[in-house]
Amino acid sequence: MANVYYEKDADRSYIADRKVAVLGYGSQGHAHALNLKESGIDVRVGLREGSSSKAKAESAGLRVLSTADACAEADLIMVLLPDTEQRDVYEADIAPNLTNGDALFFAHGFNIRFEQITPPEWVDVAMVAPKGPGHLVRRTYTEGGGVPCLIAVAQDASGHARDLALAYADAIGGTRAGVLDTTFEEETETDLFGEQVVLCGGLTSLVQAGFETLVEAGYQPESAYFECLHEVKLIVDLMYEQGIAGMRYSISDTAEYGDLTRGSRVITPAVKAEMRKILDEIQSGKFAEEWIAESRGGRRRFEELRQADREHQIEQVGGELRGMMPWISAGKQSVQDASGGD
Ligand code: NAD
Ligand code: MG
Repeated sequence: MANVYYEKDADRSYIADRKVAVLGYGSQGHAHALNLKESGIDVRVGLREGSSSKAKAESAGLRVLSTADACAEADLIMVLLPDTEQRDVYEADIAPNLTNGDALFFAHGFNIRFEQITPPEWVDVAMVAPKGPGHLVRRTYTEGGGVPCLIAVAQDASGHARDLALAYADAIGGTRAGVLDTTFEEETETDLFGEQVVLCGGLTSLVQAGFETLVEAGYQPESAYFECLHEVKLIVDLMYEQGIAGMRYSISDTAEYGDLTRGSRVITPAVKAEMRKILDEIQSGKFAEEWIAESRGGRRRFEELRQADREHQIEQVGGELRGMMPWISAGKQSVQDASGGD
């Protein structure tokens, strides 16, 4: 079993006298900054000139500085910028302001794992990665709980990088839920694999293909939508609470027999072999190289693919059906709000 740490395992004294800079005030940034502040940590937020988040952060009672000034003041810098922006900001504003004894923190290992950022050997480099979106990191903290976190150390200059990471995870509420040890390699590679193969890529393609198959066979798109998208949540909630076996306990025997005999005809050995290929592309750095080039080149293909899927029939049908079920989105943050915006 992996090591799991709780509140009693963390020593806050490692972070108590630190000056922390949180760079970015998006999904993760706003949650880390506010949780740290309420945990009594000396925190400032670093934002680029003209950022529309400045007013939001200040009205929440946070001190806001330019990215460079925040880095100059701080001795612990948490980088909560979009992964594709981190390298440029590192070169312009972070690197020139690093001094001996500083710690550089991340919430995802991408830029260290794929060597987009190579910090000097005399700084601690660690990760505190909440396993949930920022609005949950914030909300659970205000309710007295937390979101589980992964911690990892890429470089231990001080000899206490792990203690510092655990203290940081404690201050944002992570130890209330459990903190797991990992490495930058494992976190980055499993995170990318999960989102590509299961959580995002695999799931959206499965839902779309099932929907298309029913519609092409002449069934009503509304029925196809309910069967192939709407009900996914009901099944996933059961799996989340009780595992696959627990979910199967709740469904009918007919559903379970179909599951047991048909599932492996959908996810065939050929599909699993493709998963392995996707993992190889992640491990070799091929995916990272492709995505960095796409992003730096203006994201044309990305936008085209995004637009094509927005025009898929399942979106039109879904929009209308969800409009008839206002309780589904009632009280929900919009995608824009949830990501914190700019
Ligand atoms: P986000 O897009 O929600 O927020 C990024 C912030 O950076 C925004 O405030 C934006 O205004 C600012 N920003 C953008 N470009 C900038 C630039 N060039 N210079 C300065 N500021 C700039 O990002 P996020 O989802 O909070 O992700 C931050 C980090 O946390 C990433 O490393 C991500 O992988 C990681 N992470 C995210 C989640 C999540 O659920 N969102 C979960 C775990 C880890
Ligand atoms: Mg992720």
